Amino acid sequence: MQTSDRTQSTVTITRRGADRIRAGHAWVYRSDVSEAKDILPGALVTVNEAGGRGPHSTAFRAGPPHTRMLGSAFYSTASEIAIRMISSKPIVDIEKLVRERIRAAIAYRELYVQNTNADRVIFSEGDSLPGLIVDRYNDILSLQVLTQAMDAEPIRRVFLSELQEALHPTTIFERVDPRVRKLEQLPEKESGVIWNASEFPTLAAKNAARMGNPQSEVRTEFQMNGVRFVYDAFGGQKTGAFLDQRENYAAAARYARGEALDVFCYQGGFALHLAPTCDKVTGVDSSRPALEVADQNAALNGREIEWIEANAFDLLRDYSDAGKRYDTIVLDPPAFAKSRQNRETALRGYKELNLRALKMLRPGGVLVTCSCSYHVSGADLLEVLASAALDSHRIVRILENRGQAKDHPSVLGIPETAYLKCFVVSVS
Ligand code: SAH
Repeated sequence: MQTSDRTQSTVTITRRGADRIRAGHAWVYRSDVSEAKDILPGALVTVNEAGGRGPHSTAFRAGPPHTRMLGSAFYSTASEIAIRMISSKPIVDIEKLVRERIRAAIAYRELYVQNTNADRVIFSEGDSLPGLIVDRYNDILSLQVLTQAMDAEPIRRVFLSELQEALHPTTIFERVDPRVRKLEQLPEKESGVIWNASEFPTLAAKNAARMGNPQSEVRTEFQMNGVRFVYDAFGGQKTGAFLDQRENYAAAARYARGEALDVFCYQGGFALHLAPTCDKVTGVDSSRPALEVADQNAALNGREIEWIEANAFDLLRDYSDAGKRYDTIVLDPPAFAKSRQNRETALRGYKELNLRALKMLRPGGVLVTCSCSYHVSGADLLEVLASAALDSHRIVRILENRGQAKDHPSVLGIPETAYLKCFVVSVS
């Protein structure tokens, strides 16, 4: 990371890459990089569009051939996404810019995030901080570093100190995705605590008072919409909660009634929100550790919920064959389409789930159906639902067409920042 050396290296990109940036996107793929000589991993670079009369230039293009400056970016020597734009201007002080962006992201949450002490504080491109994700669970921050640039020591120092100053966490935990580090050719690293307030004398007393046992530094309790959850950075599936569903939980709770089935329930996010208005709630997931946390969460809220460890596809088939009926069903599967290539298979999966759910709903029942696959659009999911409605001879009315919570901002021009779809529908 060239933060002390203020002269930025230069990368030249093709017209196609430049058009993408002009359309508001932040990424340039390696195939659109035409020149990047001696650029260090994670370097801050100036991005130019190739000028001259190259193969892509056209005789009728206005103006003389010249190089056009598109802005500044973080460069990766390893990832297919070679360039992530951070500004349309040259950058004088990258550390100052990172601090400002973090403060702006926090101010945005202060305006738009309500009824919780758990939110996504930094959402990478969604907050113009590509490569950094920070989640807050009450007093614990859990962060993920996804690029060479964000992993560089001077930048890490800056965001860590800014997060400490602004949010006063007791602990900062780094969640490592080994696959991402490999892709970025970063050295292997374990997940773990990277900062703890108790190391600092001024905070030690406060910290000691709150912490009972040695593991407590990565355990806490948080709440959203008045529902309580445990957070354990080392336990469960190590992913924390699905904060992006927070507003959809509240929406589902407004419609839920009768007997409810939460399919792919994980640690019980939807199920716990449905419980106050439903007579009976059942949650289904294939992960035992997730269900163990779900059970702790139910106890924390004084709720009786039935948890079933099963493959959702098998369970839905068995239950619908057995003629089981529900008034409320939630479908929140994992991303079936991890890439464009398996989009068709994913659509078949969504179709099967939604068809089974529609068949099992009593007249007037409510279905909450979600997809977090970026490669399956809202229109795709609606098409699947429409086809399931036809096959099951049900009439489906859309009550709510929803997306991800506001602390996961989706930026116009960067379609990848919008990935979560959630429809609440009435089934007659
Ligand atoms: N609804 C949850 C998030 C679901 S994430 C919430 O709001 O917190 C997807 C979940 O699907 C994970 O918990 C995973 O364990 C589970 N899962 C994946 N494949 C499954 C399958 N075939 N059957 C049941 N559960 C599955």
